[in-house]
Amino acid sequence: MTDPMGYYALLGVQPGSSPETIKRAYRELAKKYHPDARDGGSSSQFRAINEAYVILIDPKRRADYDAIIQPAEPPPKQSKAIDPICCSECKRPTAQPRHLRFWKVYSVLIATVRVPVQGIYCAECAKTAALHATVFSSIAGWWGFPWGPIYTISTAITNIMGGVGSLESDHALLWYNAVAFHSIGNDRLAYGLALKVRNARDEKVAEGANYLLELLERRGVKPETAELKNPWAKRSSSPLKQIFAVSFIPTLVIGLTLVNIQGSRTISVYNQSPDTPYRPPSIASNEGRPDFRPAAPPTPPKKHCWFTPANGQVLSAIGTSQDIFNRVIIENGSEGNAIIKVKGLDRKFSLKFYVAERMTAQFDRIPDGQYEISYSSGELLGENCKGFDPPRFSKKFEGVELFQTEFTANSRITHSLTYTLFTVRDGNAHANNISSSDFDAE
Ligand SMILES: [Zn+2]
Repeated sequence: MTDPMGYYALLGVQPGSSPETIKRAYRELAKKYHPDARDGGSSSQFRAINEAYVILIDPKRRADYDAIIQPAEPPPKQSKAIDPICCSECKRPTAQPRHLRFWKVYSVLIATVRVPVQGIYCAECAKTAALHATVFSSIAGWWGFPWGPIYTISTAITNIMGGVGSLESDHALLWYNAVAFHSIGNDRLAYGLALKVRNARDEKVAEGANYLLELLERRGVKPETAELKNPWAKRSSSPLKQIFAVSFIPTLVIGLTLVNIQGSRTISVYNQSPDTPYRPPSIASNEGRPDFRPAAPPTPPKKHCWFTPANGQVLSAIGTSQDIFNRVIIENGSEGNAIIKVKGLDRKFSLKFYVAERMTAQFDRIPDGQYEISYSSGELLGENCKGFDPPRFSKKFEGVELFQTEFTANSRITHSLTYTLFTVRDGNAHANNISSSDFDAE
């Protein structure tokens, strides 16, 4: 049960409270805020308390109030499901993918070319891809002088060591998958993945992972049941196969010695312990050769805000105070979530708050002044958590709102302004399109 007008909150009671509790709470507050009270009182607060009390103490009106709330609360819907990353070879979703690059070498007389083979792999496919690249090189790579044998051996070493990757991009992939599995309800797997990146070097990833871990623990995921096996740690016969694949070329006697020495380093390269910095395996110099430098790493998946905002949540604020002043109420009847921006013309006050689809939210600490009110519509918050990415549109209401507290002999009258956002037309006030950068500006 929610409390959209804040009546229960105003009286400091729970929505399910008994009439006696409500009555008692009201008496306390009425005494405190009565305009004639010894330490000043507050007539606006007093009026607000009365307004809440009148509704909540009348069983019929209270039932109506509670009932209005129910339909306004949308069915608990899953935020959009995100598909986990699929292996680029077998096309199957893989929980712990890695972005890796292997090399193929082929030579003709004096020309030797190294070609990168890269993709996002599951552990199984990575082994196969490495083996294929090495077999290809062992057949096609030797026959150029002098680079053929050198490249064939050095790339075989690289492939045997598991290819070239980067911890950062692997962490980005794991974190993307943690969010994806969480979005489709597989919380145990999401937990296991988040656990792997909680110490990631990318602060955003680490912060998000720790937040998700906390959230999932609160939802009952048992840490001891969620730890994941590392499919990449499992040594298979693959390195042996690869060595065999290269060594059937007779000239590889020297190469084999090298392979064995270098191959024994494999474990430290992919040690997942965060204190072991990752160093890419060295590749033979390209001096005097065409430039075959590695292609750029894959574009990381598009990032969104790491939390899902609550209805009414303030996203950014400049110059707000704790005192109750004027109030803006937004009834969001439009399709999509909205961010409302209340910006003072004197630039001393600026506020953005979030109103979920088909919900009502309010902010009632707006000091006197002149304001422009605009809003933006969209689905998910962008990475900075202050605007939608992408925004569907942004609009500004025409004119300027003036909030001016009036004082009479013994009361203070503040303003309350309600806007309704409709899907059709623009709602109860005319609004003009503005650019999203205008909306984003504080
Ligand atoms: Zn695969």
